[in-house]
Amino acid sequence: MPGRCLICGGHLGVKLLSLGMQPVTKNLIDHAHPESFHAALDVVICTVCATVQLDDPWPHHALVPWHDWMSFREPEEHLDDVVERVIEAHSLEPDALILGISAKDCTTVSRFEKKGFKNTYRVQPDRDLKIETPNAYIESVQHELSHEVAEGIVAEIGQVDCLIVRHILEHSERPGQFLDAISVMLKPGGVAVFEVPDCESALEKNDYALIWEEHNIYFTEATLNRCLAKNGFENCWGIVYPYAFENSIVIAAQKASSEVNTSTKSLKKELSRFDHYAKSFKETKTRVIEAITSFVDDEYTIVLFGAGHLGCSFLNYNGIGDRLAFAVDDAPEKLGLKLPGTGLEIRPTSDLAGMSNLVCLLSVTPDIESAVVKRLQARLRSDVVYRSIVSTSSRYIGG
Ligand SMILES: [Zn+2]
Repeated sequence: MPGRCLICGGHLGVKLLSLGMQPVTKNLIDHAHPESFHAALDVVICTVCATVQLDDPWPHHALVPWHDWMSFREPEEHLDDVVERVIEAHSLEPDALILGISAKDCTTVSRFEKKGFKNTYRVQPDRDLKIETPNAYIESVQHELSHEVAEGIVAEIGQVDCLIVRHILEHSERPGQFLDAISVMLKPGGVAVFEVPDCESALEKNDYALIWEEHNIYFTEATLNRCLAKNGFENCWGIVYPYAFENSIVIAAQKASSEVNTSTKSLKKELSRFDHYAKSFKETKTRVIEAITSFVDDEYTIVLFGAGHLGCSFLNYNGIGDRLAFAVDDAPEKLGLKLPGTGLEIRPTSDLAGMSNLVCLLSVTPDIESAVVKRLQARLRSDVVYRSIVSTSSRYIGG
């Protein structure tokens, strides 16, 4: 039976994209953690609000990072511009109360502080959310933030003028509950600044590493707007900041005084884009397997360069982990650990020195790809072949 949409409760479409049983990709295997958590990864679209989402969100506790050294980076170059726009568009005075929801909001809050805003606060996972799990991160914050918790925060610091909500809504298991909590914390007339990754381009360009077990929702500008409107927020302004790998959608919104019209204008476009994306998976996977097989037949050694969740997902979705020799990453904490689902050990770049008949399958963002290749060319044999897992790269292996 089809499930219900996380956002609008509408019927989800049939499962068009099933990626099979998959492991948690960020948690690298070591002696203390020999087994990954696995679950089915199915992607669907809501037939009512056209939001792409996981059919069945994974339990948040399975997504808690194992390793305390793990870091996650979203692009931040646009944040100066965002902060300036927020201050100006919403006439924020220096005594305005600014609140960041998670650790991802510290860099935005500190930008306000540098501009003279001293009345700042960040939701404390242990004190405010009663999270005691070591290494708990965004998966736990989204899970714990409820109406009651928000009321507790308001009792402590009062309702806020400006709430920073970066890269968490897409992780939400219950967006309605999450956005209700945001609404409780926000003063009437206050502004919530939402930011999520823009999935439109990856959906257009058949990039399947987009799908990540930690992201329950895959927003485009249209579906984010509809989600906010559905949950009682009025869009004040919004900008899509362009980035080489994935754009960032920023929307500044206020609590609406009356019901917001949830336009269905772009619904058809969203539905047909996803239909094409889901249906193209099989042929894209065939091309990837053919390219890998041809290298194996020609006795090349293939390594994955960049041991992050994108590369890991790419290997697992295409079922090609066993065709590679190992993964390469120079982050000292990762060395000797294994990529989930593939069994591939992570080794340093120096292990590639002198290797012939080598294919480096690059798992790096397009903006740094050329620089990475240049650096490797200076250290490795000149006949090394470079391919990429990213569909927009000219070195794309599935092209
Ligand atoms: Zn929906």
